[in-house]
Formats: sequence, C-alpha cells, structure tokens
Amino acid sequence: MDTNPFMWGPTPFRFENMWLQHTKFKENFRDWWSGFQGNGWEGHKFMRRLQYVKAKLKEWNKFSFGELKEKKKSILNDLANFDAIEQEGGLNLDLLSQRASRKGELEELILREEIHWRQKAKVKWVKEGDCNSKFYHKVANGRRNRKYIKELENERGLVLKNAESITEEILHYFEKLYTNPTGESWGVEGLDWSPISEESALRLDSPFTEEEISKAIFQLDRDKAPGPDGFTIAVFQECWDVIKEELVRVFAEFHRSGIINQSTNASFIVLIPKKSLSKRISDFRPISLITSLYKIIAKVLSGRLRGVLHETIHYSQGAFVQGRQILDAVLIANEIVDERRRSGEEGVVFKIDFEKAYDHVKWDFLDHVLEKKGFSPRWRKWMSGCVSSVSYAILVNGSAKGWVKASRGLRQGDPLSPFLFTLVADVLSRMLMRAEERNLMEGFRVGRNRTRVSHLQFADDTIFFSNSREEELQTLKSLLLVFGHISGLKVNLNKSSIYGINLDQVHLSRLAVMLDCKASGWPILYLGLPLGGNPKACGFWDPVIERISSRLDGWQKAYLSFGGRITLIQSCLTHLPSYFLSLFKIPASVAAKIEKMQRDFLWSGVGEGKRDHLVRWDVVCKPKTIGGLGLGNISWRNLALLGKWLWRYPREGSALWHQVILSIYGSHSNGWDANTLVRWSHRCPWKAIAQVFQGFSLITRYVVGNGDRIRFWEDLWRGDQPLGTQYPRLFRVVVDKNISISSVLGPSRPFSWNLNFRRNLSDSEIEDLEGLMRSLDDLYLSPSVPDARLWPLSSSGLFSVKSFFLALSQSSGSPQNFPSKFVWKSQVPFKVKSFVWLVAHKKVNTNDMLQVRRPYKALSPDICILCMKHGESADHLFLHCPLTIGLWHRLFQLAKMDWVPPRSIYDMMSINFKGFGNSKRGIVLWQAASIALIRVVWWERNARIFEDKERNSEFLWDSIVFLASLWAFCSKAFKGTPLNVIQLDWIAVCTP
Ligand SMILES: [Zn+2]
Repeated sequence: MDTNPFMWGPTPFRFENMWLQHTKFKENFRDWWSGFQGNGWEGHKFMRRLQYVKAKLKEWNKFSFGELKEKKKSILNDLANFDAIEQEGGLNLDLLSQRASRKGELEELILREEIHWRQKAKVKWVKEGDCNSKFYHKVANGRRNRKYIKELENERGLVLKNAESITEEILHYFEKLYTNPTGESWGVEGLDWSPISEESALRLDSPFTEEEISKAIFQLDRDKAPGPDGFTIAVFQECWDVIKEELVRVFAEFHRSGIINQSTNASFIVLIPKKSLSKRISDFRPISLITSLYKIIAKVLSGRLRGVLHETIHYSQGAFVQGRQILDAVLIANEIVDERRRSGEEGVVFKIDFEKAYDHVKWDFLDHVLEKKGFSPRWRKWMSGCVSSVSYAILVNGSAKGWVKASRGLRQGDPLSPFLFTLVADVLSRMLMRAEERNLMEGFRVGRNRTRVSHLQFADDTIFFSNSREEELQTLKSLLLVFGHISGLKVNLNKSSIYGINLDQVHLSRLAVMLDCKASGWPILYLGLPLGGNPKACGFWDPVIERISSRLDGWQKAYLSFGGRITLIQSCLTHLPSYFLSLFKIPASVAAKIEKMQRDFLWSGVGEGKRDHLVRWDVVCKPKTIGGLGLGNISWRNLALLGKWLWRYPREGSALWHQVILSIYGSHSNGWDANTLVRWSHRCPWKAIAQVFQGFSLITRYVVGNGDRIRFWEDLWRGDQPLGTQYPRLFRVVVDKNISISSVLGPSRPFSWNLNFRRNLSDSEIEDLEGLMRSLDDLYLSPSVPDARLWPLSSSGLFSVKSFFLALSQSSGSPQNFPSKFVWKSQVPFKVKSFVWLVAHKKVNTNDMLQVRRPYKALSPDICILCMKHGESADHLFLHCPLTIGLWHRLFQLAKMDWVPPRSIYDMMSINFKGFGNSKRGIVLWQAASIALIRVVWWERNARIFEDKERNSEFLWDSIVFLASLWAFCSKAFKGTPLNVIQLDWIAVCTP
C-alpha cells in the first residue's frame, strides 16, 4: 500500500479557481510553499510540497470562505432587514453605509461564485462577469448527472445494479485493456523511415530552459479539470514566480535521469458517455486526468516533438504536423473522388476503423519506431519514462477506485500522446509506400500530373483509395493485418466500409466479402464533413441546421441575459457551421434559414412571449466598429473562409493538397495561383473556392524582392493598378505581356530597361515611357529576397479570415461613426456592454413591457418617471433629466472638469472626455463610471416603475461609485489594488 499514489481521500481534492480571487491568496501560497521541508527526488519533493500546500489550503478555505451559500444567505438576510427598516422610516447615514458595504460583499461573493461555477461547468465562452448563477448550476449539474453510472451491462449481458459489482466490472475491464498480452515483440525492416536530422535529434535533447517551461504552462488551459493532485493549471500560472525554482530543478533532474516517479504520473480515468443511453462500458470514452506536474513536463516535451515531426511524417498524414490542417484531407478526398467519377474509371474508397487505437499501442514497438526514425537514446529513455510510469485509478461516480498499472497504450489527455501516436501510425504509410514501389498497389492517379494518392491519415482516421482489382485490395488487407500485429493497432473490420466509384453493386459486394467489411453508399462522413456529396443540395446542409437547432433547444434561454445570448450566438451559432463553411459554399437559401434562427434566438425574451426585434438585423450583422454586434452575414463569412485557401495555395507548394489541386486544375498565368477557370460543372469544393479569387485578388499586393516572379505589366505591384492598365498605349505594343520585372529591368541599377516593342514608338508613347521610367526611379531590387505576396489588411501582412470578412462587410454599406470604443472596449461585464449598445441605438424603450406587466401602472408612456415632467426618451433619461444631469455634474465636478452637456447620449458616448487623465487606469475608470451612471439610472427608473421604490440621488451616486469601482477592480489595470482603496478616492488611484 505504501507505493499506492492515490492517497487523496475518498472525494478527490479540487483546487477552486475562485480562491485566486482572494487578495491574500498569493501571499499565503508563497508562505505555504516555502514552509515545506523535505528531501529526496526533486519530482517526488515537488508532489509532496503540493500535498502540503493542499492541506493548508483546505484549512484556509474553511476559515476565509466558509460556505459560500451560508454567507450569501446571511448577507441577503441583512439586506432584507435594511429594506424593511427603510420602508418604515428611512435609513440614517450609518445604516446606509452599512448597507452599501454588505452589498459590496455580496457582489464580490457572486463574482467568486461565478468563477467556481465556470470551472465546474466548463462553459468557456461565457465571459467572466456575465454572471448568471442559475444558468451555471443548470449546466454544471446537468454534466454531473450525465456522468453518473447507475447500472452497467457486463460482457455476458448481465445488468449490474449495485455499486460494488459495477466498480469491479469497470476495474476488470481496464486492467485487461491496459495490459499488454505476452508474446514476442516485432520490428520492421526495409522501410524508408525518413529519419529526423541529427541536428534535430540533438536539439530535442538540449537542457530545458525556464522560458520554455513557462511558455508551456501558459499555453495550457487554466480551467481544465485537474488530475489526482487536484491543482488546476491556473495556480501554476498565477504563482509562477513562487514555484519556478523548484520546477526548473524537477526538469533538470528529469533531463539527467529520464525518470518520472509514480506519484507524478498517477492518473484518473473519467468515463464520458458517448451516447445518451450508455449501457455497456464500451459506450463510455475513457479520458485521463493527469497531474499538473506531469502535464507540464509532457507539454514541454510535446512542444519539442512538434517542431521535428514534419521531417519524418509522411505527407499523407494530416494531423499534429505543423502546417498541415484537418480540412486539407477533406479537400483532397472530395477532389479526387470527384475527378475519379468524372473520368469514368472504376475505383474503391475504403474507410477503416482502428480498434481502441490509443489504448492498444505497444510500447516496445513505439521505441523501435523512435530508434528507426533517428531519435537519440536519451529521448527514447524520456519517452519510455513518460509512457511506462503510468498508473490509473478509475473515477466511478466521483470517487477514485482501484489502481491499475499499465503495460501498453497511450493516454487520451496526455499532451504527448497525439504526437507519439502519429509516429506509430506513420509506419503504415511507409509500408504502403513500399508496396507502391513494388507495383503491388497503385492508389488513385490524379489529374494531368498523375499525382499519386493511395491513402490519407488524420490521427487514427484512415481512408484508402484504390482501383477495383481484387489483388490490390488483398495486398492492402494483408498489410493491415501485419501492421496490426506489430503495432497493436488492429482494424475493426465490421466497423470499416468500402464505397464504389463507377462500380456495379455486385462487384462492390464481392470486394466487401473479401475484405470482410460493409459495402456502403455515398456520401461518406469523413472527418466530420461529407465526402462525395453535393453542396448545392439543401440536404447536404441538414447536419448543420440540425446541430444548430439542437444546440438552441438545449439552452435554457430563460436564464440568459441579452449579453449571454449574443455570446452564445457568436460561439455556437457562428462557430458550429464554420467548419462546413471553410470548405463548401453555402446556398443562399440555407444561409437565410440559419440567419433566421440566429435572429429569433437573439430577440427571444425572458418569458414575455414574442419580443420585437429591437435593432434591424442588417445593423446587428455589421462590424462592431460601425455599430453592429459583429455577427456578420453568413455568406460573407463563407467567402472569407474560402479565401484562406487562395492565400495558402502559393505558400504551400510542397503540400499534398497543393499538388492535387495543381494537377487537376493547372496553374494561373500569374504563376502564383491555381487556374481559376473551372470549365466543368461539378460539385467539387475547389470550383466555389476559385470563384472567390476575383474579390481576393483585388486586395492582395505583391512585394518586390528580386523581381523574378512578379509580372511587370499584369500584376498589381506599383500604384493602385497594374502598369499595363496605367500605361495602356505602351502595353498594347509590348511583345511579351507576361514578362517578369527582373527581365525588364535587369538585376541591378542602373536598370537596363529591356522592353521589346512591336514597332517604333510614337512621340506620345515615348512621353509615356519617360513617365514610366521616372515613376520607377526609387525602385530597388533585392537579388537575395524572393518576391512575395502580402495581405495589406492586417498589420502582419498575413491573411486573416477576419480582415477579409471585415473588408467584405464594409464594402457593402457606408461606414458610420459609432462610439464603439466606449461601448466595447470598456472593462465592464459583457452583459452591461450589450445593454449600453442598446442605449447607444436608443433601443431600450420598454413601455411595452410596462403595459404587459403592470397595466394599472400604465402612465402615459411619454412621462419620465424620474422627474414626472418631461417625456421619456433615451436622451432625456440618460442625459438631460434633472436627476441624471445632477449625477453627470457630480462626476465632472469630481474630475474638476467643465463641460457642456451634448445634445444626445450618442454624442456623450462619442466624446472622449478623459476625466481621470490619460493613464490606462484613468481611462478604464472613467468609462466604468460613465457606464455605471447609465446603468444605475436605468435600474432606478425600473425600480420606480415596477417596485414602487424611490431612492435619492445621494444613494444613486453611492451605487455608481461602488459599481464602477467593482468593475475597475476586476480589470487588469487595477490588478492588486483592493476594492475599498479604489472606492475611497478615484482621483488618487488614477494618478500615476
Ligand atoms: Zn426626467
């Protein structure tokens, strides 16, 4: 039992990220950290130190947080009492300030609670500050329920219902899964291994630097569920300067010994149901939760491995290799299937499924591959140190059970696993290559260059392209058998399918019988996208529509604020379809359908039935800078996403996808792009992509280097138009219109001006020529720098989908001024920002709500409830009303500024007042104060209408001060300044 690393008690300890919010946290952490005494292995010491801190943390938590719920209850009680006293006879100054301070505690508590729930719910897209506890509880509890296993069916079909037998069954299953069956180990010889360079092998071994370690830590996700040690990565990020010395020592020790001790590499396995009704254990996906220390080590190592993978991984593998992307494989597959269909040749697509791919990897085979691929003995020792020190406890319904020592497999959740898996899977590509060389297999031959594509891999997702000859498929089958035997990666044939091209059903079935798999029909779902379907048909897009509508039904709209709904639309409604939209062109009717869903969701109110669409949809879609919410029109987003291919094409000349496109479509006359004239009408994705070229080429610019690739007359490289357009008379008589800059000008100054005209030039043409020569007077060629293409819309000069999208959106409407800085750049919660956005559009009119809720209160809708004199409009309510303007005056007095109230609230937001100076803090606090004022006036208006409550302006001012201070307190600019200090003196905290 001594060596059992799982001594963490019945319910595992979890670090709560809300603790980081406590002002004393870091100070305490530093004390605890340095308070630990111990000796021995650095890694072991580090883990024990964390244990020590954990014990301290538990005490501290009890002492300084208490039970959040209890604390909140007591504050709410107090507040209710204050309200009661107020109803009876009003509060004196003392009680008023007591109430304000209790309110402050409540707000802080809510902020902490929110962080707590955010961590539990793992809803990353809802920003801090859009607090909606009810909603979080719903999500968090929902997750917990889904994971709870009440009964389980074992292998013999018996349904187990009691906790003990369920646990026993689960443990038995994982013991079997992670144990390597005894037997010989195999190697392969005679393959082209394409080993990494000696230089790379040396670099992989170099000592670890502090910078490298810190970079890895900050790349990791701070909120992800912690492993057996219970610490989230957030702690390591926040307390980096406290822990770094010890951590660097752990790395130095690992560098020397290659040993990872058992407590560092203990993992929890969590069972995540794959479907809603999970009955058998195979219906669950095991995910490993690993300790924070191991996660950091593995992250650093995987960062290094990532940098060398492209040297040794075959071009048919698309995953985890720098510069290769998942969509590349889907594009290639769609293009070559389409071409094969058009050619009339018979062909077969074979999609296989590896059985439990990660879990079955044999360690000795992995080591064999690493050796063959040129990794050093030290690196191999590190890798086997990492994979073989693993031990598992299974989390069954929240508590840790058993202890399984693994002897094979890679863990899902270990940052190293994807890269190691890719190395193992590469052997299959190498075996296929060998078979191709010996003409045992051919694959598809694509386009005019007869580019060979026999298979594509993306992690464990593998698909083969073959002709319909039986011998060839027989060869493939035996290759797969051999590979499964030596690597542990066995093909699950009854989950694998073949699909025929120009092939009759009988022939296809015969092949399926021979391969022992299913014969299926088109389209295929490949890497989440359709392969061989027709993007012009509405049915093609059904999965997108279905996914969006099921997401929407899943959310409890009632618990979402307006701001929350915006965030949701942006995250799931926009990001969900963008995977499809990055490759396929969406038909207008489908785009309209999705936009309607977004629209209805945005304006769906809280239990009020159908609500008006307050702001026009075309305004909502506009970029934030010109007054919209930046949701964007789906068709433009689609074009912008497709444009990315055009940018990548000339830059990725050696990539397989480039070769395939080049082979099918040929080159553009400019020598950079693929031919954009696609004559045949078909369903392949590239045709739609090529159509984006016109808009795309208007934006790209050429940057002259040596002048070898840019065409002198035809390309856009000088001024706003190509020179051929600027000097049409000269261009007409030029012999070679496609000539490059360097051929015209020669490599160096003075330029040799090698222009060939068909005839002698006339006087006016000579004038033109002189003008042209003068205009190139300041041009220099740089012989050692190749010509390049640049994307002028982003500061880096590199293409971004966002900038292309903005360019497309802006070109279709005249830009207006919108106080976007005031609305969106302020440091206030997102839901407040979206409220201010409505105010800026003067769309917070809720007289209709008043009518619905309290018909008896329906004053004349024109009267302002604050002064009962003037009509209610946004300008009046938030600016000119005597009560409001008093508050504004007070704010400006505090800033010692004279001001004249502008005509409208819109102008008020547009003027850059800088009342608290030019410092970062001054700007943050001034914006917070102005927004708090607007918010508080709105609350007051509603309180008077709906709750019959009326507060005086002194009270309102206190609320503004509190609210603005709280928002500022949560911002980066005020990090480390306590809330009460900010509240005390705004001018002082903003003075540098
Ligand atoms: Zn008024």
